[in-house]
This record gives sequence, structure tokens and C-alpha cells, in this order.
Amino acid sequence: MTERQQLLALAGLIYVAECIRWVRRGAVVLAAAPDRRAWRRSPLLANEHGDAFIGWPLPPFGDFLVVRGRPLSASEDGVVTATAASLHEAGRPVQAVRMWSWEAVAKAKSSGDRVLVGNETAWRADSPFEAAELTAWLVRMATLPASARRSALERDAADSFDGQVIRARLDDWRVSLQPMQRVQAALMAWLFGVVPAAVWGWGWFPTLAWAVPPALGASIWLARRFSRIVRAWHPEGGEERSRLTLMVALSPLTALRASELAGRVRMAWFHPAAVAAAVLARPAAEALAAALWRDISCPRRPLPSSEPAAVAILEAERCRTRSMLEAWARREGWRPEAWVEPPSRTDADHVRYCPRCLVQFTARASDCTDCGGLKLVDFETTAAQAMGSHLNY
Ligand SMILES: [Zn+2]
Repeated sequence: MTERQQLLALAGLIYVAECIRWVRRGAVVLAAAPDRRAWRRSPLLANEHGDAFIGWPLPPFGDFLVVRGRPLSASEDGVVTATAASLHEAGRPVQAVRMWSWEAVAKAKSSGDRVLVGNETAWRADSPFEAAELTAWLVRMATLPASARRSALERDAADSFDGQVIRARLDDWRVSLQPMQRVQAALMAWLFGVVPAAVWGWGWFPTLAWAVPPALGASIWLARRFSRIVRAWHPEGGEERSRLTLMVALSPLTALRASELAGRVRMAWFHPAAVAAAVLARPAAEALAAALWRDISCPRRPLPSSEPAAVAILEAERCRTRSMLEAWARREGWRPEAWVEPPSRTDADHVRYCPRCLVQFTARASDCTDCGGLKLVDFETTAAQAMGSHLNY
């Protein structure tokens, strides 16, 4: 490999590294490329804290959305730093489970990517934008009169399934990011096409003299637009916005990812099933909704806490999400009862199945280890009974 080829390969590697996104557990990634689908775990690299995904590196770059809904449980009695739901296929995020009264939560603050209550971390986000927004939400709920909090939580849960708002926000998201994606495509052709060809023909110094100003000009244009969009979408994340704007302006390789950096968590707080219904083909969206419905109906064991007061808050959040998910599914024209019907037997020896993941078992098994020891149900048991037996902890 010549020195020029090595430098081009190095730039390519740096760019691929720019495309890698670390997503903490408890989110669903909706990506448009290479095919449009939902990811509940990364096919590349994961550990018990999160997963590494690659945002599509080539123009037109595709959609890349991280959607998680509120990652905490709340009721009139307080907040617990976990939910009964396991959006990730391998389980809930690994974190300390704490419970706080609303008086304590009123003093929550964000520090970088963490939400702090007192000196303790209530939640760790992927980015300071999410930490700042979740903190603002907690403080807003905590400062409501106690009598208004229950209906505010109900309203907030209903909003996370509001298809009209979701579609309008997605339209705005696409329209805002498209001009950036077009400039990014031109910048990519410049950096990885025109510039290497010119270096091959005329050498480094004559080429760089005319190749660098347009690349920097495009980066600065992208940085200005990035800053304007992020200011509107994430007004609480001022410091992070300045840091990323500077990186986009000074590094053309980072500028190639500007649209994804700006829009990745725009839909973070909606329910993943509701966002998936707006961006995926209908069968794929229904498959995700069905899996999340079974998960919220028969939560993975063990539960995040065994302390009775915390369990009551987890249960309040779970029941609220479940009833909103059911109402939303019916509005979409789906029947949640069809999602809990026993699967078709794949072997005559299979007499039981897991009501959460639908894996089938022989008579020797009594619980599903993949779902943390969830009790199996017999094929003869009706679906309604199967779900009913797991509704109460
Ligand atoms: Zn299972």
C-alpha cells in the first residue's frame, strides 16, 4: 500500500468510527438502511450495559432513531429508576434501582449524561440532551400539585402513543434534515472521490490548496444548520450543542454525520411501538408491537425490585403503559388478544410455551430461562388465562 492509499484508508476508518453509536439498554433502534427495521439488540457488539450500532455510512444516510419512552416508573407515590418492561431482548439495563419521593425528585439535576437526584445517579443517558430533557420532565412532574399528578402522568403516557403528533414530528424531522443530508452527500463525494483522485494526479500540496476551503465551507454550513436545529429540538442541552457544533465545524468527517447527530434522539420519549408504526411496514410494526405487548403483560423475571413500595410504583407504571398500548393498538386496527394466542406446535413433544417469548418446551421444563424464569403455560390453557396468571406480581 502506498502512503496515499494508507491515508485514504485511515480517513475511511475514522469515518466508520464516527458512524458507530453506543445505545444504552432499554431502547429500540429504528433504522432505514440497509433495510428498514427495528433493532431490539445489536447484531454487532453488545454487553450488559448497551449495544453498538452503525448508522448507515453511505448517502442518503438513512434514518437512525433511538426510541425508548420514559425509562423510569412513576406514580402518585414517587419514582423508581427502572421499569418492568424489557425493550432489549436480553433484559433490562444494569443499574441500581432506587425509589424517591416527589419532594426529593423536585431537586433533580442533570450533569453531563446523568440524571442526578441528590448525589445519586437516577439514570444514565446516551447523551446530555436526553439527560437534560428527562430531568426537566421529572422536575415538571414533581412541582405539580399532588392532586394533579396522577392525571398528568396519564396524559403524558397517552401522549407517548399519539400517532398524529408522532407523524407530524417525523415529517418535520425529515424536512429539516434533508438539506443537510444532501450537503453531506456532496461533501462525501468530495472527500472520498474528488480529493483522492486529485492527489493521485497532482500530489498533496497543489490539491490541498484548493480542496480544503470547500470542505471546511461545507462543514461550517452544516455546523450552523446543526446548531439551529438542535437549539429548537433540544433547548435544554446548550453545552452539548456547543461542543458538537464545534466538532462538526472543524472536522469534515464528523460533519458527514451531522444530520444523524442532530436527529437521533428526536423521538426518544415516545413509545417505540407507536414510532415503529409510523416508520416501518405494517407487518414489521405489528410484530414489534406484539412482542412489546407480551413483554409488558408478562414481565421478565426477576423484577427490578422486590421492595413492596417500589413494586407498587413499577406496577402502576406497567399497568398504565399496558392500557395505553392496548388502546393505541385497537386504534391502529390490531387485536392484542391475537398477539397472545398459543404458537403453532413445532414438535409433538412440546406441551408448554413461554407466554412472553413464545419458545416451546417439553414436559420436563416448568419455566423459561431466557425470560428470567417466567412460568410456562400449557398449550391447552387459553391465552386469556395465560396472560391473566402473570398480571399480578
Ligand atoms: Zn421466554
